[in-house]
Amino acid sequence: MSVFSHREFDNHQQVAFFNDKKTGLKAIIAVHNTNLGPALGGCRMWPYATGEEALTDVLRLSRGMTYKSALANLKLGGGKAVIIGDASTQKSDDLLYAMGDFIEGLGGRYITAEDSGTSVPDILKMGQRTSYISGVDKASDHGGDPSPSTAYGVFVSLREAVAYKLGQTNLQGLKVAIQGLGNVGYRLAEYLNDAGAELFVTDIVQTSVDRAVFELNATPVSGDEIFSLDVDVFAPCALGAAINDQSIEKLRASIVAGAANNQLATPIHGQILHDRGVLYAPDYVVNAGGIIDVYYQRKMLSADYSAANYASDLSTKVEGIGATLREIFVRSEAENVPTFVIADRVAEERFNCASSEWQPAKSDAPAATRSYSKSV
Ligand code: NAD
Repeated sequence: MSVFSHREFDNHQQVAFFNDKKTGLKAIIAVHNTNLGPALGGCRMWPYATGEEALTDVLRLSRGMTYKSALANLKLGGGKAVIIGDASTQKSDDLLYAMGDFIEGLGGRYITAEDSGTSVPDILKMGQRTSYISGVDKASDHGGDPSPSTAYGVFVSLREAVAYKLGQTNLQGLKVAIQGLGNVGYRLAEYLNDAGAELFVTDIVQTSVDRAVFELNATPVSGDEIFSLDVDVFAPCALGAAINDQSIEKLRASIVAGAANNQLATPIHGQILHDRGVLYAPDYVVNAGGIIDVYYQRKMLSADYSAANYASDLSTKVEGIGATLREIFVRSEAENVPTFVIADRVAEERFNCASSEWQPAKSDAPAATRSYSKSV
C-alpha cells in the first residue's frame, strides 16, 4: 500500500523509514505537521507483527501529537517514532546510537523523547548521536519523568470540569472514582485527597490500592464496580478505551476527566456521553502536562534558560490547560457538539493559522560541533 493513500496518512509532512543492517534497527519517524514548530513526540519500541502495523501506529500517534501540542499552546508540531522490535530482547546500545543517527539526519524537524519500550537512559544513548532529544532533564527533581506534571494537569482539568458542570470551585467532599494508580493516577489521588475529595480506587496491582487506602483513606473497589459508582467524576488513568459499549451503560458520573490516552473506544462513545449530558474532558487536552514539561525541559538545555524559568513557565502553562478546557466546554454547549469534536477544531484553528512550516536555523552546525543550545 502507498503511504500517501494510507487511511491514517492525513497529510503528513514527512514519513521517513530507516533500516540498519548492522544493528538490526528498523524504524519509522512520522512528522505530521510543523506549522507551530519542530515535531516533538516519543520514540516507541514495540514488536509490531508487520511493518504496516508499525506505520499505522506511528501515523496515528504523530497526528495526535500535533493536536495535543497545539491545544497546550506550545510552539511545537507533532511527530512520533517507532522502532520495530522487542524492547526486552532486541535493544542494544548500537541500535540506539543508530536511532540517534536517524533522528539527527532529519536536521531537527523531529525531536524525540521516551515512550513505551524506551527509557531515559535509552534517549540519552540516542543523544550521543543527536541533540534532538528531550525528557532527559537531570536538573529537576524528577529526572525527566513528566508524570508529575501530567498528574497536575489532570487535577487542574478536573477542577475546571467540576467548576463548569457542577458550579463548584471547592473540591471538598467531591466523589471521584480513579481507575489506575500508576505514575499519574496515584499523584492525582494525592492532589484530590489534599483538596478534600472522597476517593474510590481500583488497580490490578493490589499494593497500589492498599497504599491509597492507607495513605489517602480511599475506598477500594473492584475493576468492574469502578464504572457504576454513584460519584461525581470518573477518572480513567489506566489503559485506553475505558469508555466502551459495556462501561458506558454503567457510568453514573456526570464528568469524565482522566489521564489515559484514547479513553473513547470510538467517537460514537463521545457522542453518547454528550447526548446524556456527561461532560467529557478530552484526554489529549487533560493529559498535556507531560508534553508541556518535556518542552520546557528541552528549553533548559539552553544556557540562558534557568531552572527558575522552567518552574515558572511550566506551572503557568499547565494551569493554562484549564482555560483551553473552558473554551472547549463553552463552545461544545453553545454549538451542541461533543467536546472532543470541538477540541479538534480548536487545535486545527491554532495550527492551521500558524504562519509557516518550521525551518532549521541557518546557523545549525553539524551534530559533532553543536551544543544543546538551540531553542525548541
Ligand atoms: P502507569 O503504567 O504508571 O499506570 C497505569 C496503572 O494502571 C498501573 O498502576 C496499572 O497497574 C493500572 N492498570 C492497568 N490496567 C488496569 C485495569 N484494567 N484496571 C485498573 N488499573 C489498571 O502509567 P501512567 O504513566 O500513570 O499513565 C497512565 C495513563 O495516562 C496511560 O494511559 C498513559 O498513556 C497516559 N498518559 C501518561 C502520561 C505520563 O506523563 N505518564 C502522559 C500522557 C498520558
